Amino acid sequence: MKAKLFSFFLLLLFSGCAEKKSCPTVPKNVILLISDGTGLSQISSAYFYKKSDVNYSRFQHLGLITTSSSREDITDSAASGTAFASGTKTYNGAIGVLEDSTQLENIVEIASRKGVKTGVVATSSITHATPASFYAHVTDRDFQEKIALQLAKSEIDFFAGGGANFFNQRSDALNIIDTLTAHKFTIETSSLTSIEAIKSNQKQGFLLSNDGMPKMSEGRGDFLSKATMLGIEFLHQNETPFFIMSEGSQIDWAGHDNDTAYLISEVIDFDELIGAVLDFAAEDGETLVVVTSDHETGGFTLSGKNYTTKEGEVYSSYSKLEPKFSTGGHSATLIPVFAYGPGAEHFSGVYDNTDIFRKIMKLTGWDKN
Ligand code: MG
Ligand code: ZN
Repeated sequence: MKAKLFSFFLLLLFSGCAEKKSCPTVPKNVILLISDGTGLSQISSAYFYKKSDVNYSRFQHLGLITTSSSREDITDSAASGTAFASGTKTYNGAIGVLEDSTQLENIVEIASRKGVKTGVVATSSITHATPASFYAHVTDRDFQEKIALQLAKSEIDFFAGGGANFFNQRSDALNIIDTLTAHKFTIETSSLTSIEAIKSNQKQGFLLSNDGMPKMSEGRGDFLSKATMLGIEFLHQNETPFFIMSEGSQIDWAGHDNDTAYLISEVIDFDELIGAVLDFAAEDGETLVVVTSDHETGGFTLSGKNYTTKEGEVYSSYSKLEPKFSTGGHSATLIPVFAYGPGAEHFSGVYDNTDIFRKIMKLTGWDKN
């Protein structure tokens, strides 16, 4: 009996909520990490090219999602971002609106009503399709100046990314940095700061490049992990519940470019983000972490290097990898979902991208009165 009790406590100790006294079943906070354009082959590349431990290995609850948009077999980031943020299918290009341009409520708007602090981080412009899906409503993702204005007026409490041009170099000559300030944001445009420098600000934004952030190969460094962890610290002051979406935006861009080295460096950066977030969640014990992608880009595959024999026969090596792409666009392959923390087991199975929203709502109860 005593031995049984002891092993029960051991189990508790090693089940992922070890550092807290109890294991909550309702997540207080949600961290959604999106690697744009990342299928199983992109994730697999970390296992062959990352020199340190791969953080994807730390998950025990995995699922797969279908991602087609309302009109197309192959989704874009706007339709799939809207599926995650609002739980509804729409057409490619649409951000937070239905086919008939009716506005869809997003997770940021819903959670904010419950006193949840919210943030978005991206390595693209902060007005790009994926982050925009969490605060904007436009019929076309290309309306980035309109999206910038909507960010200023949104419920978002923290953001970090690129895209300053859509705020202060606009075709209408408006200065949306002023609009952000009028809506209680403090804006930094040179670099990330310490938490001490921003913690008493009401809302905080970082616009650190004119359009997308630099590539990893061009010196972006640990921006993605640092900005996300700063955002979490900022939003979670005094144990306030929070929701943050953080995106590794450029895995998709590398896929469009069919650039393997670019892709791998961006995947490794995203894996570092997973590590930082899981360290936080393990310590915190009340945070649900969901890691997924909107779609696959490039039809990327970890194929072997092709050799031609003396007889002129082409064969594929099993000992030397030479990854290849099959398209310059997106593909329709099922996309993996990884979950950690309270409620993570609900993300096992095969389901639709819109179900991510519904699962988060069901677990948190943010949409209940
Ligand atoms: Mg994106
Ligand atoms: Zn894309």
